[in-house]
Amino acid sequence: MVRRIKVKKLMAEPTLGKDVLVKGWVRTKRGNRNIVFIALNDGSTINNIQIVADAASFDESLLKDITTGASIGVTGRLVESQGGGQNIEISALHIEIYGKSDANTYPLQKKGHSMEFLRENAHLRFRTNTFGAVFRIRHAMAFAIHKYFNDIGFFYLHTPIITGSDAEGAGEMFHVTTLDLKTIPRGEDGAIDFREDFFGKETNLTVSGQLEGELGALALGEIYTFGPTFRAENSNTPRHLAEFWMIEPEMAFYDLNDNMDLAEDFVKYLIRYALENCKEDLEFLDRMVNPGLSGRLKFVVENEFVRITYTEAVDILSASGRKWEFPVGWGRDLQAEHERYLVEEHFLKPVIITDYPKEIKAFYMKQNDDGRTVRAMDVLFPGIGEIIGGSQREEVYDKLLARIRELKLPEKDLWWYLDTRRFGTAPHSGFGLGFERFILFVTGMANIRDVIPFPRTPKNAEF
Ligand code: ATP
Ligand code: MN
Repeated sequence: MVRRIKVKKLMAEPTLGKDVLVKGWVRTKRGNRNIVFIALNDGSTINNIQIVADAASFDESLLKDITTGASIGVTGRLVESQGGGQNIEISALHIEIYGKSDANTYPLQKKGHSMEFLRENAHLRFRTNTFGAVFRIRHAMAFAIHKYFNDIGFFYLHTPIITGSDAEGAGEMFHVTTLDLKTIPRGEDGAIDFREDFFGKETNLTVSGQLEGELGALALGEIYTFGPTFRAENSNTPRHLAEFWMIEPEMAFYDLNDNMDLAEDFVKYLIRYALENCKEDLEFLDRMVNPGLSGRLKFVVENEFVRITYTEAVDILSASGRKWEFPVGWGRDLQAEHERYLVEEHFLKPVIITDYPKEIKAFYMKQNDDGRTVRAMDVLFPGIGEIIGGSQREEVYDKLLARIRELKLPEKDLWWYLDTRRFGTAPHSGFGLGFERFILFVTGMANIRDVIPFPRTPKNAEF
C-alpha cells in the first residue's frame, strides 16, 4: 500500500520512479482512443498534476466516468513528463472513482465564469483556480497575523461576540434575542421589556472588540483580537460586508506615533509574508485577475507611508481643482473618492491621516489640546481606501466622562470601561484592520464578496 501524498508535496519533492497515490478532483480530461490525460487538482496548490492513463489498461466505462468535477484516487508511477507544460506526471496503474460528476449539470465548465455566477455558486467556487488561490492566501495571512503578534509578545485575547454595549455608539447592530417576535413583552410605556430576554438585557452582535480589548491591554500590556464583527449597515459597496473579520491590537504605553509605526510594520510584514510564501497563487492572480499585482505589493513594502493630518488632507483636496461628488470642507468626513484621490493620484503611496475633527470620530479617542481634533488615524490603501482605523485612547477619566455625557452615551452601561481610567489608567492606543479589505489588496480581487468564503450582505445570507 502506498500512502496518499498531496500534490504540493509531490511537486516540491518529486520521488521519480516511485509509486504514489494522489486524490483530488478532475479539472479536465482529454486524449484519444489510446491515451487519456487527466489534470487533477487536490486543493493543496494551484498546480494540477497530470495523470496519464493507457486506455487499453482500464475499463472503458471507468474512463468515461472520469469527467470534470469528479473525485478520484490514482495510484501510479511518478515519471518525468514527456510533454511540455509540466515537469512530472503520474503514469496511472489504478484509478478509483469516489464521486462522479454529471458533465451536463456540473456548473463549472472549462471556460471562464463571471464573478457573479461564481458567487451564486459559492458552494463550488473553491474549485476554481481563482478562488483556490484567494482562500489559500487568506489562510496564509491569518496564520501570519498570529505569527507576527506572537513573535513580538502580544497576547491573543478573545473578546465577546454577543455584547451588551455599542462600542462605537453608532447603532447599526444586529440584535440578539430569544424573545418570541410574535408576542414581544412590553412595559407600561410600550417599550420592549428586555428583562424577559435571555440575558435579561438588550444584547447585540459585536461591532468591535476594542473596548474589551482595552481592558486586556491595561493588564497584559499588548493584546490583539482577531474575530468576526457584525455591522447592520445597509452599505451595498464592494468594500462592505455585514459580517467581516477584524484584527484589533491594543497596546498600553503607546502613543499615536507608536500606533502608526506598528500599523505600518504589521501590514508590511504581512505583505512580505505573502510575497515569500504565496508565490504561485500570487503569480496566477497577477497573470489572470489583476495585472501588476505583485509589483504593487512590492511597492507598498518598499516605501514609507505618507503621514499627514486631516487638516492638511482637506487643504490638498480643496486645492486640487477637482469636482467632488461629496463636498470637501473642514469638519466633513472624507469619502472614498477623497481618500482614493490622496492615495492614487496625489501621493501614489499608502497614506495615514491623523488628527480628525472630534465630531466625526468615536467618543473614546484622545482629545488634542486644540479642543477640536482627536488623536485618530486612518490608513488608506490604493484601490481600497480605508483599510485601518485607529487612535490613541482618552485615558483621562474626567475628559472621557465629559465626552460620554456630551454625546449622551449610556454612561451606566460603560461603568467597567470607565473603571480602567479610575484605577491605574495609562496612555494606550490601538487600531482595527479589516481582514477582508486587506485580503482584497493582497489578492487584487475587486469585490469584498469574493475574498470571504460565504459573504453576508444586505438581502443575502445564502449558504
Ligand atoms: P468605512 O468608513 O469604510 O465604513 P469605518 O470607519 O466604519 O469604515 P471602522 O469602524 O474604523 O471602519 O473599522 C475598522 C476597519 O474595519 C476599517 O478600516 C475597515 O478595514 C473594516 N471595516 C469596517 N466596516 C466594514 C464592513 N462593513 N465590511 C468590511 N470591513 C469593514
Ligand atoms: Mn462603516
